[in-house]
Amino acid sequence: MQPGFFRDTWVEVNLDAIEHNVRLMKQHIGEEVHLIAVVKANAYGHGAKQVAETALISGATMLAVAFLDEAISLRRQGIQAPILVMGAIRASDVDMVEKHNLTVTVFSLGWLKEAEKSIRNFIDLHIKVDTGMGRLGVQNENELIDIFDFAQESNRFHVKGIYTHFATADEDDPTYFLTQYDRFKKMVSTIPNQRLIVHCANSATGLKFPSKVYNAVRFGISMYGLSPSPEMKSELPFPLQEAFSLQTKIVHVKKVTKGTKISYGATYEAKEDEWIGTLPIGYADGWIRKLKDAEVIIQNKRVPLVGRICMDQCMVKLPYEIPVGTNVTLIGKQNHEEITIDEIAKRLDTINYEVPCTITSRVPRMYI
Ligand code: PLP
Repeated sequence: MQPGFFRDTWVEVNLDAIEHNVRLMKQHIGEEVHLIAVVKANAYGHGAKQVAETALISGATMLAVAFLDEAISLRRQGIQAPILVMGAIRASDVDMVEKHNLTVTVFSLGWLKEAEKSIRNFIDLHIKVDTGMGRLGVQNENELIDIFDFAQESNRFHVKGIYTHFATADEDDPTYFLTQYDRFKKMVSTIPNQRLIVHCANSATGLKFPSKVYNAVRFGISMYGLSPSPEMKSELPFPLQEAFSLQTKIVHVKKVTKGTKISYGATYEAKEDEWIGTLPIGYADGWIRKLKDAEVIIQNKRVPLVGRICMDQCMVKLPYEIPVGTNVTLIGKQNHEEITIDEIAKRLDTINYEVPCTITSRVPRMYI
């Protein structure tokens, strides 16, 4: 057990898997194409600093996060690589951008005008184009040219890139993706290309359309070894390695008699004399109540959870007496048995992205 924490539940992050996924993606998109490692949301729950360092050693040349705070936190932990903040930043916070040498996303002329007043030297920016995601970005050529010209004329801004984000790149039907791609192409053609970083690709685009990525890919979900969608799983151009697993240990074992009730609401009743194990993980760790019918792996076999999941604990039905301290895998592999993030996502009726993000900071991350 890693020193520094005193509970028997932890996330194991396999940094070799991150390295594998980055290296193979680099080969797939071409060594001359930038790989921007997307490490927002604490690297999708994996740990931003450790993932960033591994990605940078493996071929990434830039990092991307959602919020200014995430970028500052990486700088404070010693990360010096370029960091693109993809979300909106208050113009009044631009001094922090300059102080930490960060790259901002710009999509409003008003923002540039306001931010300009507080910049002492200059900041780098990427212009965001909304080609159909409907989230952030300029919507037409005039807005784009106004921003570009203003930034060029001001000595406070260095335009370093232009980008967009796709809404459906992971889906089988490419129609909407191609509509967005064509809009982006048209928008990009309206500004002089002065060796800008031009990027539109998320993992799905990079994996499926390596010839449509311009000169950078923003690599998120598949850097962590996960398929951008169930549809894409069977057609991945190279095997991905899943980096995240969730582990705990049995902390209590008891034999209960037929009819014994288990957990809040007394919803589970032993149908016969049964062995019950208690696990020190609950909904406050992100192992949420909706997972009450999930299975876990103990001694290479699947066993069911029983009763409601509590805030800090849950119970399993054991096939026989198993010692306290035995390892339990909630997500991951034990020999030939595996519970994938995709399996948990399906149980929760959500996407795989949400699962590692949901495991809270109370669960320590261990790096192997
Ligand atoms: N670019 C932007 C703007 C995003 O919001 C995200 C993630 O949501 C990504 C890139 C990475 O996408 P993915 O995780 O599908 O690779």
